[in-house]
Amino acid sequence: KLSLRGVRKRFGEVEVCKGIDLDVDEGEMVCLIGASGSGKSTLLRCMNLLEPVDDGVILLDGQDISEPGLDPQPVRQKIGIVFQSYNLFPHMSAAENVMLAPRRVYGQSREELRPKLAEMFGRFGLGDRMDHYPDQLSGGQQQRVAIIRALAMAPQIMLFDEITSALDPELVGEVLDVLRDLRGQGMTMVLATHEMGFARELADKVCFLDAGRILEQGPPDALFNAPREDRTKAFLARVL
Ligand code: ATP
Ligand code: MG
Repeated sequence: KLSLRGVRKRFGEVEVCKGIDLDVDEGEMVCLIGASGSGKSTLLRCMNLLEPVDDGVILLDGQDISEPGLDPQPVRQKIGIVFQSYNLFPHMSAAENVMLAPRRVYGQSREELRPKLAEMFGRFGLGDRMDHYPDQLSGGQQQRVAIIRALAMAPQIMLFDEITSALDPELVGEVLDVLRDLRGQGMTMVLATHEMGFARELADKVCFLDAGRILEQGPPDALFNAPREDRTKAFLARVL
């Protein structure tokens, strides 16, 4: 379980997270929605310590992971993140990209990793693509490899930042299918997304971010069908 209490983050003069309280329970899918610049990416980056927070606490299973000076590495192994730009190494095959971190961090061998990887690649429709190089894969396939790469570290929680935004529309579905699969497996997930249909279908909780605050949060039915705040209504009127 991940809990944020009063999380604040500023860049220079600008406060981008203005006291965020959020609970992500085990097995839950939480979607962050909101206008460009509302702070979704920053909040995700704070959650796995890519950005230090200025105030407030982040608790992972009750342990404060936001303490200054704490080694972020073990936390990042427990909380994986996938970005819009998949950033695979171009000179390595898909399988080598995925094996890199578990080999380095856990000292696992290729032989040890290969069967587990084959299972994951197969599950995500990439059974015959393990030894392809990134430039031999479509955007949707590369993004699925990037997801497998994060999963190979066996994280407890996965963060996804607009992972379908850079994809051609016809490739979005195959990446969302992977998230659907992960949710079915009980993975705890936090997504920043513009895919409102997807959030509506699968989220346990949707949070509307507005200028660095969670203005409103609740189950998708309530948030999408009966928003309370005017700014939520205005945002939804624009995007739905
Ligand atoms: P989008 O939907 O466009 O991805 P977002 O909700 O993810 O937007 P953020 O990327 O979190 O928004 O940005 C929130 C604010 O923080 C923006 O005003 C942005 O310019 C600012 N910001 C983000 N990262 C930095 C940084 N490293 N340095 C300075 N300002 C930053
Ligand atoms: Mg963003």
